[in-house]
Amino acid sequence: MKNRPIALIIAGSDSGGGAGLQADLKTLTSMGVFGVTVITGLTAQNTIGVKSIYNVDPSFISSQFDAVMEDFSVKFGKTGMLSNESIIKAVQEKVKEYNLKLVVDPVMVSKTGSPLLDESSVDALKSLMKDALLSTPNKYEAEKLAGEKITSLDDLKRVARKLYNDIGNVVVKGGNMFNGTDVAMLDGQEMEIKSPKVNTSNLHGSGDVFSASIVGFLSKGASLIEAIEESKKFVYFSILNSLSIGKGKGPVDPFA
Ligand code: PLP
Repeated sequence: MKNRPIALIIAGSDSGGGAGLQADLKTLTSMGVFGVTVITGLTAQNTIGVKSIYNVDPSFISSQFDAVMEDFSVKFGKTGMLSNESIIKAVQEKVKEYNLKLVVDPVMVSKTGSPLLDESSVDALKSLMKDALLSTPNKYEAEKLAGEKITSLDDLKRVARKLYNDIGNVVVKGGNMFNGTDVAMLDGQEMEIKSPKVNTSNLHGSGDVFSASIVGFLSKGASLIEAIEESKKFVYFSILNSLSIGKGKGPVDPFA
């Protein structure tokens, strides 16, 4: 009898395979975790940009949730692209119903500049984040959520504390801005999470790989802080070995 930990991905499809649920599934697979999926939307996308988005009806999102959760034993999940308020509400209801421990990657805009969330849905997303175990905004998303600009590591720390007070546990990703430093606020404790800076523009999917690997490590029994620290290393190697495929910004490689 063979078994594997199972984790739930609640995310949108990237037809280009580098981000979204494809990146999440590749990440979990590379870690030996079996990924099940609730698909929130489809993007017609490649390494150059997002051409169009087709959102899944919220009632069908709920159906996918029921199908998966009635069958499999799943404790941890993550969200990616949620597109709009009615999708966020459908997801929030099912997360509560099934008592899912959730990591929210508050996806707002793709690295190629396309909106992946309605501007009017930020409050609904914050409400979902309050119900989550952890949220992982990047600098841009943290600025939108906190209503403040981040131009220094001190700003990053201040915004992390503000978001912690507002929505709970958070890792604010500094990206390449602050020498590869992210700031975590977990149960009131501030922590710097560091990795070396990598000079590449092939970063497509890096945020997705980070949040998916956190869920992967949690599913394998890691504590939250262990999962975050291990995922920081995981995403560093994925970026270091990112792929120069496609005509635009290439994807990071979770199999690195
Ligand atoms: N497309 C989808 C469907 C996503 O979920 C995401 C991020 O979560 C992206 C694109 C963004 O990818 P990136 O900003 O890394 O290019």
